[in-house]
Amino acid sequence: MSSYRGRFAPSPTGPLHLGSLVAAMASYLDAKAHQGSWLVRIEDVDFDRNVAGADQAILQSLQRCGMHSDEEILWQSQRSALYQSALDQLADHVFACSCSRKEIADSRLRAGLSDSQIYPGTCRAGIANNKAARAYRLRVPDGSAAQIEFVDRLLGPQRQDLSSAVGDFVLKRADGFWAYQLAVVVDDALQGITDVVRGADLLDSSARQIYLQQLLGYPTPRYLHVPVVTNSAGEKLSKQTGAVAFDLGNDDILQDALIPAARFLDLPLTSTPSSVAEFWSVATTLWANKMGIR
Ligand SMILES: [Zn+2]
Repeated sequence: MSSYRGRFAPSPTGPLHLGSLVAAMASYLDAKAHQGSWLVRIEDVDFDRNVAGADQAILQSLQRCGMHSDEEILWQSQRSALYQSALDQLADHVFACSCSRKEIADSRLRAGLSDSQIYPGTCRAGIANNKAARAYRLRVPDGSAAQIEFVDRLLGPQRQDLSSAVGDFVLKRADGFWAYQLAVVVDDALQGITDVVRGADLLDSSARQIYLQQLLGYPTPRYLHVPVVTNSAGEKLSKQTGAVAFDLGNDDILQDALIPAARFLDLPLTSTPSSVAEFWSVATTLWANKMGIR
């Protein structure tokens, strides 16, 4: 085993479909091509989006695809104390915010700014007396300190100005749930993840995560974002956009799942593997060649 440690971190909002399988496959192949470890973590901190039983369905699909976690599987819903201690550690950079979504949008409009998603800094200096704290936000620096740069292994050099692109972002939500950005940074660090391989829909989150890693004194992993599978309307595949789970039990896991996912990742399979094990052996070599891993 090398020092490489990768992970697949699905949210249990529905069964595994081709889109999520592509992300799982890329992270798995990259770990295997590096003779590293591959971990599975269930990102179930958004209790409103969790679907009962979806975590077990995803884990069964991974098993059926021949993808096995090298270590015990973690559920983020059981790790609240770790996220709280990270929030405590960030206290000097965190402020309470009483703004509703509508207040943030209205304030942006008044300032003549079009993007209602970016927080206008209303509660930076404290919340109004008659208001209650709803969420906890991280104060993003001004000027050049807000520039986060990193090199994606597939997409090349990336840069984001946190101040103009994101603004002060939420670490603990108004509903009391932990924000994805904080939970993922804490878990990647505590699990010793060296390489994050995931869908390009999360590319935009990387700068926030790198900034949090810097504040918390964590190392920054390498990043690789693979293309996202979309439907005919160009929407990311998800339960909401009509993604179809590969049916457990009566389908052909090679023909219906693994081979289409490998094709999507541009792996030049020249013949049909005779087994799931042979598929992984061939696909790992093709991935290593594609990514220049030796
Ligand atoms: Zn506020």
